[in-house]
Amino acid sequence: PHILIGTATCGKVSGAMSVYEAIIATLERLGIKATVTQVGCFGMCYAEPTVDIALPGQPRISYGFMTPEKASRIIEDYIIHHNPRPDLALCTIGDGRIEGITPFDDMPMLKGQHRIAIRNCGHINPLRINHYIARNGYAGLSRALSTMTPQSVIDEILKSGLRGRGGAGFATGQKWQYCRDAAATPKYVVCNADEGDPGAFMDRSILEGDPHSVVEGLTIAAYAIGAAEGFIYVRAEYPLAVTTIKHAVAQAREHGLLGRNIMGSGFDFDIHIKEGAGAFVCGEETALMASIEGKRGLPRTRPPFPASSGLWGKPTCINNVKTLAMAAYILAEGADKFAAIGTERSKGTCVFALAGNINHMGLVEVPMGTPLSEVIYGIGGGIAGSKPLKAVQIGGPSGGCLPANLISTGLDYESLAKSGAIMGSGGLIVMDEGNCMVDVARYFLSFVQAESCGKCTPCRLGTRQMLDILERITRGEGHPADIDRLQELAKQIKISSLCALGGTSPNPVLTTLKYFLSEYEAHIFERR
Ligand code: SF4
Repeated sequence: PHILIGTATCGKVSGAMSVYEAIIATLERLGIKATVTQVGCFGMCYAEPTVDIALPGQPRISYGFMTPEKASRIIEDYIIHHNPRPDLALCTIGDGRIEGITPFDDMPMLKGQHRIAIRNCGHINPLRINHYIARNGYAGLSRALSTMTPQSVIDEILKSGLRGRGGAGFATGQKWQYCRDAAATPKYVVCNADEGDPGAFMDRSILEGDPHSVVEGLTIAAYAIGAAEGFIYVRAEYPLAVTTIKHAVAQAREHGLLGRNIMGSGFDFDIHIKEGAGAFVCGEETALMASIEGKRGLPRTRPPFPASSGLWGKPTCINNVKTLAMAAYILAEGADKFAAIGTERSKGTCVFALAGNINHMGLVEVPMGTPLSEVIYGIGGGIAGSKPLKAVQIGGPSGGCLPANLISTGLDYESLAKSGAIMGSGGLIVMDEGNCMVDVARYFLSFVQAESCGKCTPCRLGTRQMLDILERITRGEGHPADIDRLQELAKQIKISSLCALGGTSPNPVLTTLKYFLSEYEAHIFERR
């Protein structure tokens, strides 16, 4: 038998380690020989702790909401008495259980997904490089180093249509090309793993569950642009992710996949891990680079862009965790396979952290263009408590709030931009009828206001002004002119802020004003 236990952060905080210990003790007590693997997050965070069991010749069955007692009972009943306990098996239909058992790959939460960036999460032990290699890991790097020139690697990424998954959606191959074409040396590659949006945990899950995909993707990027040194900038508030990625880097070095003369190709490259110090603004690339250089993490004006003048004034290529995990896949599987997924202009898949008033909170990866409704009602299992859907916040605190009547919107860069939201880095927060949208806008604005670095006036003072007005409105002390004031401040902040944090900060207010104006008016007029 093969037993897999999800021990990423979501599993651990739900008690996965005591479930793991109970399983080990039960196997010993019953004299059962089994392979027990600690894996990263399967993506079904709502059901943590989760345990999966695969008997020889049988499909993998998933059990959720585990306790040490339940897990011990299942081991005994299934492995010894051949009763798979359908009453305890996890299924994602209706109330969460059905008669009989749905095998792992057929579970509705997983069946509707197409996993590329999170392809190995929940399948491998992230601390074992051989688990990654067994699932075609490092095949992309091997192909690049043994059969391709750096330029042909860039051409392959261009052909795939991959766009940056950190938020801006810039063509990854183009970014690599600019950096490769820059004359100055040395050059650097950076992985931006400073995920800080409320409700977002996609990058953490990849770092915790499949860190070698990031190491491989960054090494491929380094080869393509001609860098000998790279950095992974990861939040210090992600202690498990930090430990896991450090372990992966050390392991890659031991296996000759980092360091000198990688795979005998003559290519030298190594990675440093830099832990962020908790500032949200350090996810902005120029602030991130300042932080790596040991300075205070403040954004600077662009141009010059990092591709020509980045770390220490040298050409630097910065990519998000998901982008790099996808780049490794593209090199291994070929650009055509990736480009065949998604829409005309948004190729491949998009990864979301599904959170809020949703039945199946967790990790979702679907083809670009998938309707939002499919993610909420198909994969996500619908609204918690069967309440009516009210809105979805997409794209983090700087994203936008879409109302229920727009849930047929496709999840791709173009469709989301048209509706007033953004893809962002992939946070997706579902809200039911019980939420006040003015309060939601106030919450997101308070987040960005607190995280404003203060360098430029429109963001530092403008967001404070907007927040004061929103607080006044939610207290029932709003003035009829406040709506116009909010619009005007939002406009000024958008056009005159120095970086994207400020420039996009009014989005939740603007989208809620656009789609939920009556709620603002109710706060203001009905209490006067
Ligand atoms: Fe700092 Fe905000 Fe200006 Fe960005 S827009 S530099 S976060 S004050």
